[in-house]
Amino acid sequence: MPTIDTLLQQTSWTRDEICALLSVRDPAGIETIRAAADAMRQRECGDEVFFRGLVEFSNVCSCDCHYCGIRAGNPSVERYTLSADESVQAALWCADKGYGSVVLQSGERRDAAFVELVTEVVSRIKAGSVSAELPHGLGITLCVGEQPRETYARWRQAGAHRYLLRIETSSPRLFATLHPAHQTLANRQQCLRTLQEVGFQVGTGVMIGFPGQTVADLADDVLFFRDMDVDMIGMGPFIVHPQTPLAVHTATLAAQQQEIYQQALLMIAVVRLVLRDVNIAATTALQAMKPTGREEGLTYGANVIMPQLTPTRVRTHYQLYTGKPCMDESAEQCAACLAGRIRSVGRTIGYQRWGDAPHAQSRAPAPH
Ligand code: SF4
Repeated sequence: MPTIDTLLQQTSWTRDEICALLSVRDPAGIETIRAAADAMRQRECGDEVFFRGLVEFSNVCSCDCHYCGIRAGNPSVERYTLSADESVQAALWCADKGYGSVVLQSGERRDAAFVELVTEVVSRIKAGSVSAELPHGLGITLCVGEQPRETYARWRQAGAHRYLLRIETSSPRLFATLHPAHQTLANRQQCLRTLQEVGFQVGTGVMIGFPGQTVADLADDVLFFRDMDVDMIGMGPFIVHPQTPLAVHTATLAAQQQEIYQQALLMIAVVRLVLRDVNIAATTALQAMKPTGREEGLTYGANVIMPQLTPTRVRTHYQLYTGKPCMDESAEQCAACLAGRIRSVGRTIGYQRWGDAPHAQSRAPAPH
């Protein structure tokens, strides 16, 4: 296998070469990869970090993913759904503060009332956020799971233009260990294709470090992202939730925490190198593992952060994993804190713009 320096001079990589990059463990080698990814991020996406204000508008979910704290089978969760007014208000606060985009996230439901609620909220946010600075209103990303084509088309028509649907792993074998039998990787992949067909900019992502996953599996994930031609990536280290079937692995995972965190950072760097001009989020899960995790994510190639806008009265009820940070801060405090974190790594905030990935801008007209 070539040296790291030789690999980093290439512009494309085989599966084995991606495995080699993801397997680096010595600090000097990791730093070399990090610096190359950071330079790629600077060249392809610039120095700005874009905010996506996050509104977790409902923790009601009909699915039972084995790793998720708010899965349907967890009776300890206090369920909530924000009213349309509350969701719209949270999103419009974000427009007021100059964030260009909002993310509406919830558990997965396909009933008519849910589809209607999302449609109404998207339409009202669009109508209410048009300004001189944002002539097409806020950019709206949806993260509400697997849905039929007509639902995706309806939400696109209502004005959402990005959709995040994580696959969690590109391995059918591992996917089956993380989900009940009726949830399939094939269907999730089909949903990603449908989202692209109806005109969404599409994001996906995986968990890093869950039981049974190997570096080769992660290399396959990187190739999957590339081959799916996605625009956005959201990945984080796996953090076990005590009220899930995967909690049986808590002790083993605790012993591997530092390794999983470093692997997650390296994965961000390698995805940046291979996919070049996509948006990559520095996720909250990084900060749950290490207080400076999101800043570190930015220095490994990420360029997006999602400040919390979910009202504090319900925020603690939306915990996919344990130890999620920023549970008590107001949206105002969260914005100020993140601005400081971004400045601390020498970056600036991209206000009053959607901040679409250059990858998407070169392909599709977004406004609706
Ligand atoms: S990961 Fe998403 S779809 Fe799966 S149980 Fe949790 S909220 Fe529901």
